[in-house]
Amino acid sequence: MAYDWLKGIEEHYDLVVIGSGLGGMTGANVLAKCGHKVLLLEHHYQLGGLATWFTRKGGHIFDISLHGFPIGMIKSIRKYWSQDIAASIVQLKGVRFINPQFQVDTTFDREDFTRQLVEKFKVPAETVERFFTDLRAMNFYDNNPETTGQMFERYFPGRADVQRLLMEPIAYANGSTMDDPAITFGIVFSNFMSKGVYTFQGGSDVLIKKMAVELKANGVEVRKHVVVEKVLTEERDGRKQVVGVVANGKTIRCDAVLSNANIKSTVLRLAGAENFSPEFVAQTKAVRVNSSSCQVYLGIKKGETLPHIGDLVFTSDEPVFSSEKLVDLHTTSRTFSMYYPDTRPGSDRYTVVVSINAKYEDWNSLTPEQYAVEKERLIEESIVSLERYIPGVRAKIDWREAATPRTIEYYTKHWAGTSFGTKFEGLKVSMDLPNQLPGLYHAGSVGIIMSGWLGTINYGVIVANQVDKFITARKRAATPATA
Ligand SMILES: Cc1cc2nc3c(=O)[nH]c(=O)nc-3n(C[C@H](O)[C@H](O)[C@H](O)COP(=O)(O)OP(=O)(O)OC[C@H]3O[C@@H](n4cnc5c(N)ncnc54)[C@H](O)[C@@H]3O)c2cc1C
Repeated sequence: MAYDWLKGIEEHYDLVVIGSGLGGMTGANVLAKCGHKVLLLEHHYQLGGLATWFTRKGGHIFDISLHGFPIGMIKSIRKYWSQDIAASIVQLKGVRFINPQFQVDTTFDREDFTRQLVEKFKVPAETVERFFTDLRAMNFYDNNPETTGQMFERYFPGRADVQRLLMEPIAYANGSTMDDPAITFGIVFSNFMSKGVYTFQGGSDVLIKKMAVELKANGVEVRKHVVVEKVLTEERDGRKQVVGVVANGKTIRCDAVLSNANIKSTVLRLAGAENFSPEFVAQTKAVRVNSSSCQVYLGIKKGETLPHIGDLVFTSDEPVFSSEKLVDLHTTSRTFSMYYPDTRPGSDRYTVVVSINAKYEDWNSLTPEQYAVEKERLIEESIVSLERYIPGVRAKIDWREAATPRTIEYYTKHWAGTSFGTKFEGLKVSMDLPNQLPGLYHAGSVGIIMSGWLGTINYGVIVANQVDKFITARKRAATPATA
């Protein structure tokens, strides 16, 4: 008989969290600390969602999405997780751009970018200053319809090189394009420019294991290998509301559900269109998901070393930046994340993770034979490209493997294998969810600004505060009044 991964759980929880991405785990942690009874269900055999890792023969550990995040992570982790975890966040100083238009080595912060833009790109200092100041002042509630491309043209007209320098790293990091609202660029870019790029020293494995310990200490019941199949609703006082979930075929009752699954999956698959107004369903269906990613994992033989060529190396052979070319099946744009031994202090190992933006449709339409051929091509092209920066690196590699949008879909169940949630309009649907179906909340990569490690953690906290109010009100209503 199959093992019961839900063995011993209780019949009722205040909250069930679907998914253990950073948004789901943070929401669960905050709500458990508020004193609520929380059950966290994850379908994978490992916690972390996209913030994950895997090991391979030969002593290799590969991180999937530990490439870089803004300094704001230190404060968020300290406040909503622990000082101990926050203490391992360190700056990455070697960010490089190599493409036909320019080569730039930078610490990726406002001071250095100002220097580069003024000295190397010859942009007037006052334009750069005005750009950064205006960007910082951008406000989500302004409802400004301007696109990122239009904003760039206002400050840097005709400067394809400057626009590439600003846009390429953000497009690589969250799949956004020149056609997305300028606010999405403004928020993400300003977060990085504040103090540069940071990482978690010790690796995703150490981070997620520490978070798991913290969840347990705060009383969260965590279960892996559990797929939530359905959010259950019942009509009370003439209105549908959440009463539980069906997971691994079992019914679990709860007052509220916080879904860390993709917003489209949450509404259309987990809750089901029948629980919402036709307008809301239409709005959800119209939400565009962001692009996906491929990755190539290169493990370096024990005993071999690599020279320091930078921590994050953004490379492209495209003559100019193009959002379409960036996600093309045959794109030449790649980000090399270089993991030197200091990523995991005490280790003497090196790995390289190559990230490539991609379209799900391109990969999902391949036959098994074509799929194998295309993955091999991806690996080969990545090694050839890396050899330009580290001659002879091929001979040092003893593990090579590729992941595609199909891999992301398989491990995270994300709609169309999206790696960066949805376009901007998804945020409105996510925020409106509890008004549509009381008790159902969503926290996870959405709307571009609420994605990435920092975005999803912060969104997890914002939504957890709303869930806390809802559950607390429920508990009060259920407590008999004492005279
Ligand atoms: C290749 C790549 C590189 C990246 N690099 C960076 C980077 O350098 N810096 C950065 O800040 N961000 C990066 N990101 C983005 C970042 O990893 C994500 O934005 C963030 O981790 C997403 O967190 P989340 O809370 O949305 O949940 P996710 O990580 O998307 O996790 C959702 C979880 O829900 C689970 N789930 C879904 N449906 C169900 C169900 N029905 N039942 C049970 N469980 C379910 C999934 O298994 C998954 O564990 C990268 C992403 C990718 C793909």
